[in-house]
Amino acid sequence: MTEMATEDTNTTIELKGMSLEEMERFVAERGEPSYRGRQLFQWIYGRGATTFEQMTDLPAALRAALTEQASIGGLAHLDRQMSRDGTRKYLFGCADGRQIETVLIPDEERLTACLSIQVGCALACAFCLTGMMGFVRHLQAGEIVDQVLALREELAPGERIGNLVLMGMGEPLHNYEATVKALAILLHPLGLAYPARRVTLSTVGLVPEITRLAASGLGVNLAVSLHAATDELRDRLVPINRRYPLNELMAALRAYPLHPRRRITFEYTLMDGVNDRPEDARELARLLRGLRCKVNLLPLNEAPAIPFRQPSRNRVEAFQRTLKSAGVLATIRESRGWDISAACGMLVTETGQKSLDTAACLA
Ligand code: SAH
Repeated sequence: MTEMATEDTNTTIELKGMSLEEMERFVAERGEPSYRGRQLFQWIYGRGATTFEQMTDLPAALRAALTEQASIGGLAHLDRQMSRDGTRKYLFGCADGRQIETVLIPDEERLTACLSIQVGCALACAFCLTGMMGFVRHLQAGEIVDQVLALREELAPGERIGNLVLMGMGEPLHNYEATVKALAILLHPLGLAYPARRVTLSTVGLVPEITRLAASGLGVNLAVSLHAATDELRDRLVPINRRYPLNELMAALRAYPLHPRRRITFEYTLMDGVNDRPEDARELARLLRGLRCKVNLLPLNEAPAIPFRQPSRNRVEAFQRTLKSAGVLATIRESRGWDISAACGMLVTETGQKSLDTAACLA
């Protein structure tokens, strides 16, 4: 990847991160027809161009003007770690020196890219290391999209990123504007052209933004980090539940426009003796009754700073059986990339001072 030249940033206009409409406006302001904006959009996102010289179907004079006036920034590729199970974790540097992690997870025939949305996170879930890092800043749309473009540069011949999950660092719906803007670029046929069914946004459950996302028409899959089926327990594990309790969350989810063949995914991290008892499973089945959904059970990824333990395999399987016998579809998700700290809740790039508390950040 080209690293954005810092001396350029004050004098040139950054194109990566612009929507199609913004690029069309950008060229129109320079007296060019709007289809030139479409060409720029396609070159930058669809074909991953990093210089204007590559854009061979633009007139030479326009290319020269663009080189003077605009830039195509990019994340700096700082490091790569490879897990025994094939999972790869990338460390990327932003133009301001902040760092983020992005994970590539191989499945049978395609790769899933797990994208970060913020540096750190404000939500402070009790068992998540990213949450313990605190909130540093939102990523811009260009920084979200560029994770996919940067990863594409890393692929071996024949490899393809088939699925995108917004499940890396941060809370997508806390960074709503940039997330939705990035999604529009990732889905656009002239952009990265991902079908909506191959894109999943995971949220801790910010109710107003779930409703906004539903109305956006983007049609991406929704995953909800639930982890508890009663307010009493969820208040402790996922503090934002105190603001948006389960009845409000479930009402918003019941109204989410689901494609007839799709389901809402609930992530449920199992913690020994905390939320993994048979009555917890029965409570969960009751809460989800009548909703087209599936539950992804994730045995806790342990770390010294996390004050909970992973349940035994027996308890995990018993929890799954209880859900199944109550008619709830439930799978046990095997943790990936644990040995390189690429697993769920393990992404940390710097020690943010937890200066901003959840309420202040979300206000
Ligand atoms: N903020 C969004 C996106 C992050 S997704 C969300 O919460 O959905 C990351 C997933 O990993 C979430 O479901 C999170 O609850 C889960 N997770 C966090 N810490 C974990 C841990 N230590 N072990 C297992 N899962 C964890």
